[in-house]
Amino acid sequence: MAELRQPIESGAPDPMPYMHPVMVKNYGKWSFHSHPKPGVLYHRAESGDEIWTVKAGTARQMDHYTIRELADIADQYGDGFVRFTARSNIEYMVADGAKVEPLIKALNDKGYPIGGTANSVSMIAHTQGWLHCDIPGTDASGVVKALMDELYDDFVKCEMPNRVKLSTSCCEINCGGQADIAIIVQHTKPPKINHDLVANVCERPSVVARCPVAAIRPALVNGKPSLEVDEKKCICCGACFPPCPPMQINDPEHSKIAIWVGGKNSNARSKPTFHKLVAAGLPNNAPRWPEVAEVVKKILATYKADGKPWERMIDWIDRIGWPAFFEKTGLPFTKYHIDNWRGGRANLNASAHIRF
Ligand code: SF4
Ligand code: SF4
Repeated sequence: MAELRQPIESGAPDPMPYMHPVMVKNYGKWSFHSHPKPGVLYHRAESGDEIWTVKAGTARQMDHYTIRELADIADQYGDGFVRFTARSNIEYMVADGAKVEPLIKALNDKGYPIGGTANSVSMIAHTQGWLHCDIPGTDASGVVKALMDELYDDFVKCEMPNRVKLSTSCCEINCGGQADIAIIVQHTKPPKINHDLVANVCERPSVVARCPVAAIRPALVNGKPSLEVDEKKCICCGACFPPCPPMQINDPEHSKIAIWVGGKNSNARSKPTFHKLVAAGLPNNAPRWPEVAEVVKKILATYKADGKPWERMIDWIDRIGWPAFFEKTGLPFTKYHIDNWRGGRANLNASAHIRF
């Protein structure tokens, strides 16, 4: 019987035992790579070995029937080796170029699109959502599925000025990182406190320390230890909800969705940047989020028409300027878009007294 792999509590497992043998043999010794068509990458090693990678989109959260189906395709049409990318695409590696087209056909026949490489709109990276996290204000996976259904053509074709990375984050803490277009939950009301539960459930000093604007104070309510929020100070960030669920901030009406643009992690051509708010207060409208899709598609269409080759979203905006961005996309610009954190030192919670 094969020896079972021991569980690893932290960190990624060693990839070498699961890697395609051609990749193991030529690890770090590649002479060049190219992009023969959308969704396909070609690498040649110094030894002359060749390998093709076929990238397919998935639904991100998959049942085991789907995963078995994807694995069967790898066994039947590939070399039996796959890997999942950070954006939930699945990549098949094959050492024989003749296998590429039958593999693409097998994937397409089962409904998996091939694309997401080079200057396409890659699959949306999203945060864990309801499946793994306890504080989401929306279903990030649902937003991803609904949006990628609408952006199917932009995934399978390479027609954008440069690559486009999208992300969704299901709370304002945004473990999703930076993206060309980011879809982020936006709370618009301070938390509602269930005072009967606070003393039993929450570690009050930790909750007080969490608040970035020092809006939370310990308080006695109806003779019980609880907390109170200075609602004038509260910026509705939701950071108090994870350590103290009785401070409920998710709300079907008042938890909205905001769109941010121009972030990137890459330092190619220009330095990495933070994304910036361009649309706020969009309804959190499951299951298809049409208002969010409309804004995202509007931004993508304007970027596609107006961006020069190789300009990432932020390079395009830097060239035309933010006023032109709002004019061209038709998005309204309001006073809520302006916050450069110049007052951050005074506004933010900088007190050493409430750090634990
Ligand atoms: S974005 Fe927020 S709610 Fe979503 S997984 Fe990350 S921390 Fe959890
Ligand atoms: S942590 Fe955020 S939501 Fe909670 S009281 Fe402070 S500012 Fe408001």
